[in-house]
Amino acid sequence: MNFKLESKAIAAAVKKLKFRTQAFIDGKFVKAQSGKTFATENPATGQPLAQISECEARDVDHAVQAARKAFTSGVWSKMKPADRKKILLKFADLLETHAGELALLDTLEAGKPIGDCATMDIPDTILCIRWHAEAIDKIYQHVAPTGPENLALILREPVGVVGCVVPWNFPAQMVAWKIGPALATGNSVVLKPAELTSLSALRMAELAADAGVPAGVFNVVPGFGETAGQAIGRHMDVDMVAFTGSTEVGRYFLKYSAESNLKRIILECGGKSPQLVFADAPDLDNVASNAVSAAFWNMGENCSCGSRLIVHKQVKDELVSKIAKLTKTWKVGDPLDPQNRLGSLIEKPHLEKVLGYIAAGQSAGAKLVMGGRRILEKSGGYYVEPTIFDNVTNQMKIAREEIFGPVLSVISFSTEAEAVAIANDTDYGLAASLYTGDLNAAHRVARAIRAGTVSVNCFSEGDITTPFGGFKQSGFGGRDKSIWAHEQYTEQKTIWMQLA
Ligand code: NAD
Repeated sequence: MNFKLESKAIAAAVKKLKFRTQAFIDGKFVKAQSGKTFATENPATGQPLAQISECEARDVDHAVQAARKAFTSGVWSKMKPADRKKILLKFADLLETHAGELALLDTLEAGKPIGDCATMDIPDTILCIRWHAEAIDKIYQHVAPTGPENLALILREPVGVVGCVVPWNFPAQMVAWKIGPALATGNSVVLKPAELTSLSALRMAELAADAGVPAGVFNVVPGFGETAGQAIGRHMDVDMVAFTGSTEVGRYFLKYSAESNLKRIILECGGKSPQLVFADAPDLDNVASNAVSAAFWNMGENCSCGSRLIVHKQVKDELVSKIAKLTKTWKVGDPLDPQNRLGSLIEKPHLEKVLGYIAAGQSAGAKLVMGGRRILEKSGGYYVEPTIFDNVTNQMKIAREEIFGPVLSVISFSTEAEAVAIANDTDYGLAASLYTGDLNAAHRVARAIRAGTVSVNCFSEGDITTPFGGFKQSGFGGRDKSIWAHEQYTEQKTIWMQLA
């Protein structure tokens, strides 16, 4: 980080910030062809930050053409892996040099605490680019076990032009999860950031170009989902879309693909992740600490948010009181103040949606243990108290739908079978945590839960070495992170040769 995490230094760094506000296409910043712009806002104050170029179908088409030209020329797609690696490592170094700036951009646009952006989001963004870069000159391809009269090579080739459509909750990090493996494997990318958070993606594109990523290889088209996002999804010359966002919008991409060119679709979508706590869980203080992070980190605006605490009735009251006590120490307020663990929600409509869920919990008869209100309204920001509901049943709306806010629902159980049934009684299957001192139960339950990542005696999404994605309606077609992400950005080709 190039400034200290203390208020004065942060304020000085904010003053020096410059925003990149135009689309980045074919190696340069350009206005949207319509000349239109849209405002991006600081959700911690409700004040506009900048006007961003509003890309539409013709801008997407311009970017796709640039991406195709770069891909066909081979300037990146046919570059030696070791040389691509060198450029991507330089890109990672430049991200590191500008880590403070990127952290501030995400804090200002998304209301995320600067402490989180500076110590988690941006370091993970850099690590992701570096990890995928380092992998590419260490992957071997295959020769099939044919007879001596033939030689069959099983090769992986870049897919071509990859559209990436990403959400606002981890702006820079979600860009890295997509472009890390997509660029490493030689594709050209057209990326659409969420309309609420365009700034870090645009800066990342500029830094990639500074590092030597050739023009047309990494393009960013800011704009709205129904226009720019849909144009990517329906484009006849986009070979693949990697999407992260809501399950609702994920479905559209399958439809766009079916109605256009059958492009490959990878979806990382929403969740309603369970945290199972058994009566023999070792160290309830540790469970409480993990449960608070799972539920409230990033204001609950986290796809793997552990929003359902499914806890054995014997330890429920003790655990809920520990969680409530600890939650009170998580200060809510200005995300630029490094003391605050919770910042603001992303925008007013989202705040209203979260408050609507809280009202639904109350009217369904759940017991409000703490929180439940909008706070700090005078700041103009969209803050809500971390909220805990006890006596929730898995049939209540707050237990079934993804709230994407700091709202924890506590559900109790008596037997292991009941706990697993409640955990699996959901349309989602992204992540889960379980806490027990019994090794056999840990294995048994981890295998019984239908989710892409199950963490035991902690809350975790794994790290860059582990794949991340969902079962059921949490995902489709692939995984982010790890070496498996490389595969999904490549096509498999067989070359069959007749030998004399
Ligand atoms: P969203 O689905 O509203 O938007 C995601 C992206 O899709 C944005 O870029 C948006 O502009 C675009 N979009 C919206 N409507 C579109 C349309 N009709 N056609 C094409 N594109 C369209 O999601 P969000 O509110 O930005 O993000 C929150 C969601 O993301 C949550 O559901 C969360 O669980 C999910 N998420 C999942 C993961 C994961 O790894 N599984 C990670 C982070 C977030």
